[in-house]
Amino acid sequence: MNLNTVTSVLHPGSADEITGWRNGYAWLAGGTWLFSEPQIATDTLIDLQQLNWLALEITPDGLEIAATCRIAELYGFAAPPQWTAAPLIRTCCNALLASFKIWNAATVGGNICMSLPAGAMISLTVALEGVYTLWPRQGAPRQVAANEFVTGNHTNVLQPGELLRAIHLPATALRKRVAFRQSSLTHLGRSAALLIGTRSLDADDLLLTISATTPRPLQLRFAAFPSAKMLRQAIDEQIPADGYFGDVHGSAAYKRHLTYYFAEDIRTELAAGGS
Ligand SMILES: Cc1cc2nc3c(=O)[nH]c(=O)nc-3n(C[C@H](O)[C@H](O)[C@H](O)COP(=O)(O)OP(=O)(O)OC[C@H]3O[C@@H](n4cnc5c(N)ncnc54)[C@H](O)[C@@H]3O)c2cc1C
Repeated sequence: MNLNTVTSVLHPGSADEITGWRNGYAWLAGGTWLFSEPQIATDTLIDLQQLNWLALEITPDGLEIAATCRIAELYGFAAPPQWTAAPLIRTCCNALLASFKIWNAATVGGNICMSLPAGAMISLTVALEGVYTLWPRQGAPRQVAANEFVTGNHTNVLQPGELLRAIHLPATALRKRVAFRQSSLTHLGRSAALLIGTRSLDADDLLLTISATTPRPLQLRFAAFPSAKMLRQAIDEQIPADGYFGDVHGSAAYKRHLTYYFAEDIRTELAAGGS
């Protein structure tokens, strides 16, 4: 849609060119959300595409994803064969309710910064123990664990003007086994539940990431593989009965049920031999 409050669009060659941040400014990534509804508080868009950040880079430590990497680019990523968790990347890209047009424009960073409960790029990067690099407008870059970035429905730790620059997925997490469960009330609908389990190849651990059923992603980490009873207890300790996120994509009670159901399903899958 036309944003009739926007009077200028800036195209900086470097993020450092944006020094004084004020109300009315907004970073523009793929624009799929920004242009989907009126932005009455915004008068200036600052386009990130001219920054020309390398979308994806394999390093000895893992995978670096630029915030401006498009979801379609991430989907096309060919991972080294030893990264057993890499199929999760495509599965999570497919978990977004998105037309072809959205998929090719929306960015990984835009999805994360929207900080919606059903943000599949959030689920992916939290489950794979990601670390985000944030660029404040003033001061040194800082790093935040993916599971600490989103603080609630549509809220996160970004300060005014702070930019999400990149997402690091460590090779140690990419070499784990994974199990994924997702459900939507409608075909290709927004996730009502998106749960991911990971398990090291050489350890008896379990890391369970719960998203979409709660306002922000939650993680349960077990050093020793849990029984069904231990898993359920841990969920109850982490999420109070009224801590589930009810919306048009599923009631809180339904999402609570899915959380128990998928968590146990994932536990059973990862308890069995490799995938
Ligand atoms: C039809 C439709 C269906 C959708 N379904 C889903 C769904 O199922 N699940 C889901 O999670 N979301 C869904 N969304 C919302 C989706 O999360 C966003 O449209 C998309 O991910 C935003 O990416 P973008 O690159 O287009 O961001 P933009 O629209 O450009 O920006 C989104 C917001 O993030 C900020 N931002 C962007 N990049 C950065 C950055 N690097 N640093 C700091 N701030 C930044 C912008 O200022 C803006 O506030 C849907 C949207 C549409 C239109």
